[in-house]
This record gives sequence, structure tokens and C-alpha cells, in this order.
Amino acid sequence: MTRFCTVCAHEESFAINEDIVIGITSVRRIAAQYGLSETAMRRHKEHIPQLLLQAHDDMQGYEADAILLRVEHLENETLQLLEDAKSGDVVDRRIILQAIREQRGNIELIAKIKQLIDLAPKTELVLISPQVQALIVGALLPYPEARQAVADSLASIEVAS
Ligand SMILES: [Zn+2]
Repeated sequence: MTRFCTVCAHEESFAINEDIVIGITSVRRIAAQYGLSETAMRRHKEHIPQLLLQAHDDMQGYEADAILLRVEHLENETLQLLEDAKSGDVVDRRIILQAIREQRGNIELIAKIKQLIDLAPKTELVLISPQVQALIVGALLPYPEARQAVADSLASIEVAS
């Protein structure tokens, strides 16, 4: 956000964004409820697409990390087992072989997960940037009726997404 936004900076911004996206409560009421100005709210609506994208990316990163962390933990346990088996008084070949096999499985699993993450289609929210919206509406200046209609449908897309 290039300009300071009182809504983005609000400590309840998550709940406010939720209210805006759900679209049941009017902007005026949301503004009143959180002690914000309506102008700030309207300006902030332009930030929502970006915020949604960001949240989406954060979530994906978190999930991938959590899975890899779990596999890593498993891997450490296997390596520890292997170490114990090798340093024991009686070397148990069966345990060592078992541990090696498990470790190989762990490595394969990590590789598979990393591959899945790389292959995962980057699901992008198809949104029209505010600049392009302004451009479209601006180009229709000589045609007031068409201009209004386009502006209205653009606004409805914003609310629906
Ligand atoms: Zn904002």
C-alpha cells in the first residue's frame, strides 16, 4: 500500500475486510461500526483484491511448510534410529536395513512433495486492476450510458469477489 490506509492499519482490519467481502452490511454501517470514515472505506475497497491474493499465497506457503516440517521430523527420527543401531553393542543389521529403507522413503516423500508444490497450478484470482478499470471507464467518457453500465458491473464484480 503506497498510501497510508486507516482501514488497512485498523486493528480489526481482518473483520472489516470480511464484512466488506461478504457484502451484507453496507459500507456506511461498517464504517460507523469501526469508527472509520466512509471515504477511507471506499478507498480501501481497492486494496481488497491485493489483500486476498496475499492471504492466498501465505496460506499455500504455510501448508507446504507444515508438511515438509513433518517429514523432516520423521527423517530425524529415522536417522537417530540408524545411529543408535550402528553404535549399539550388538549391531542389528535388520534394524539398520529397516532404517535405511525408511530413510529412502522419507527422501522420496520430500521429493514428491516438493515436486507437487512446483507443479501446483498457480491459481490466480482473475481481477481487473483499479488502473485498468479507470482506463475502461475513462475511455467510455463520450458515452455516459455505457460508461455508467460498465462502472456498475465492475462494481458488482468487486463485491462478488
Ligand atoms: Zn486499505
